[in-house]
Amino acid sequence: MNKQDILQLFNKHYGARYKVYPSSIKSKKDNYFFMAKDDKEKNLIVITKTNVAQKFEGSVSEEEKIGKEELLAKICYLNHHNLNLLREIFPHLNPSFCGLRPSFGTGDRLGIATPAHLQAFQGKDIFPILAQQSVREMARTERNWQKVLDDAIWGCFEAGYEGPFGADADHVKKIKELKEAVDCGFTMFTIDPSDFIRNDIEKLGKQELDQFYNQISNSKEIKKLYLGKSYKVNGKELIFDEKSLKEITLTYSEAINHVVKCYEFLKDYKKSNFDLEISVDETPTVTSPLAHLFIVLELKRRGVDFQNIALHFLGDWQKGIEYIGDVKQFAREFSLHAAIAKNIGGYKLSLHTGSDKFSVYPIFYQETDGLCHIKTAGTSWLEEAKVVAMKDPALYREIHRFALENFAKDRASYNLTTDLSRVPNIDKLSDGQLVDLFSKPDSRQLIHITYGSILRAKDDEGKYIFKDRIYKILFKYEEDHYRELSNHIKRHLELLNLRRR
Ligand SMILES: [Zn+2]
Repeated sequence: MNKQDILQLFNKHYGARYKVYPSSIKSKKDNYFFMAKDDKEKNLIVITKTNVAQKFEGSVSEEEKIGKEELLAKICYLNHHNLNLLREIFPHLNPSFCGLRPSFGTGDRLGIATPAHLQAFQGKDIFPILAQQSVREMARTERNWQKVLDDAIWGCFEAGYEGPFGADADHVKKIKELKEAVDCGFTMFTIDPSDFIRNDIEKLGKQELDQFYNQISNSKEIKKLYLGKSYKVNGKELIFDEKSLKEITLTYSEAINHVVKCYEFLKDYKKSNFDLEISVDETPTVTSPLAHLFIVLELKRRGVDFQNIALHFLGDWQKGIEYIGDVKQFAREFSLHAAIAKNIGGYKLSLHTGSDKFSVYPIFYQETDGLCHIKTAGTSWLEEAKVVAMKDPALYREIHRFALENFAKDRASYNLTTDLSRVPNIDKLSDGQLVDLFSKPDSRQLIHITYGSILRAKDDEGKYIFKDRIYKILFKYEEDHYRELSNHIKRHLELLNLRRR
């Protein structure tokens, strides 16, 4: 029996009840596994001659003998137990270490985007980080590490993907959260020490600056290591003079201590290789090249083996829309950061809020020679909302109105210049025009930042108002969902000068 025979046999027996994902069919020792959807949900199908199927959980009534060869077909759930069994049988379903290869993260807030993301990655020489969610996003989507990882792996299985991929526990602030992510099998950890970054330093007078500086336990050591030291980068001289050294040390020293603690925990607790990213992007001020230099030198000196660092780069980085700022000026400043990274070596620069920043992608990739990581997330959600607008305009209108009501509250945790008066009145738009909202920055941001409120909204009986209907419509129009989403991620990837695979 080959895969084709199995597919034919299954289709003959079950007729039109299931639609098989042909690329998902995998075999191991005469046992066959694949994914199929009925009109309500996706199922794992196990076809076997042996008792392998018994280990998988499914409804017993669905166990049937098919064909002359007495093959047993079992319709099984897409649950954690079954996924673990599959991961043992097919090790390619386990996330792995990325290291210094160019990489791209595709956050997936609904947990159904991975097959579309994989379509976009096809033929591109870049390491995909398919499971990527921050602690904040998980709270807003009511998901957890396990669910985020499982959903991404089921997506790999559905697509028949056998290549490597990573799983990024993003913007983690506490060791407890790191521990949970390790327990669930994440392979990449993004430590966000922003709670320990001081943002009042620039306002301090000289006396206060000295006073605070002298309180740092290793202040003398830092002075000895860096004061007056100069570094030649791109023909430019970067010097730690007394004032800048004190300011940078005070701004970042507690944050660096926190990162060291997290790293030491991970090194002890995570038994296999892992990717570590340090993110100082969510700070009020832009990271200067000198601060970049200091953070990296200190992390190296203190033995932290990290792969990526996300800095707060020049410009206005808002969610789900183009870069706001002078691209040429960004390019000039960024080339310094890229040169620092190259000079010191051994790590990649990471770009957060990378959704739809088309104008800076070529610069980012070229300046770093591909030693880079990029994260996107919200843009996938926006494509999904766009498909809802295309396929169920009435539902989209409800979501849109709800988003308008919640915008003022939800914008608090974001840096935005959204002006709701620029969002067209949807009562004056035809159903066909709704999709145009997704090409306008203000309406994109309206839907982008209210995702948590939209997904969590419940009626008086405790039932979700939108969530289930969103999943239903995307399930029904899955081809449209995958096409729109993969095309949009492709637009991102095509701006990187990747080698073809
Ligand atoms: Zn970030």
